[in-house]
Amino acid sequence: MSKKRKFGKCNLCLKENWLCKSHIYPKAFVNHLRDKKVDNIFLVLSDIILKKSKQDGPKEYLLCEKCETHIKLYEDYYKEFFIDKKNISLKQIENGLIHISGYNYKKLRLFLLSVLWRTSITSLENWHIELSTIDQELLRNAILNDIPGSYDFFPFYTFLIQIDGHNESSFFMNPFDSNVPIDNCVFMYIFGVLYMFSKTSINERFTQLNSLTREKWICNIKNIKEVPILLEKIKSINIDKS
Ligand SMILES: [Zn+2]
Repeated sequence: MSKKRKFGKCNLCLKENWLCKSHIYPKAFVNHLRDKKVDNIFLVLSDIILKKSKQDGPKEYLLCEKCETHIKLYEDYYKEFFIDKKNISLKQIENGLIHISGYNYKKLRLFLLSVLWRTSITSLENWHIELSTIDQELLRNAILNDIPGSYDFFPFYTFLIQIDGHNESSFFMNPFDSNVPIDNCVFMYIFGVLYMFSKTSINERFTQLNSLTREKWICNIKNIKEVPILLEKIKSINIDKS
């Protein structure tokens, strides 16, 4: 949590208070992955050029200290889950799928919902995703009251992206919305994992099969070349590399 503060209305509890400079994507990850030697350089893999994001990560005054601490509990859990892989079991199954179990469903899901929510409340250019006021309020209430919902509440799919057979876990990019392949979706590519979220609380095009449920989380493994929407986005960023 940054020590710099500003007075205003907290986006989560809606109370007037001193606000912290909150990261849109978790600071713990950015710190963990940060390597000053590779800040702002281009990573070249085969014919794909990735521009590494500036490694401090986007941040803005969004939450009071209490709410920042509240959300940090989920962030800490995700770090434990994703980086330390504590107490979870990972099993590769057929058809390029990974079966994950043993996680804390509530913390994991609330963390992911909180990232989606943060993109909806930030005013930072290129990091903001417009959600309807009703959906934004549903998300805020879920996070404030620790209610993760079931797989079909803001459903999402997860893709572990591979480039030349490896997962590039230090790469993240700004979220973007799309109506392909499903209407009203938000794509978030965070640390080598692509999340395809519904922008609406209910979206019947998503099924339980490849979602995060209380029992299991099925992630698709995809070569980046099989995900044209991501490839297109990365290439469009790199056009602007001056
Ligand atoms: Zn607050």
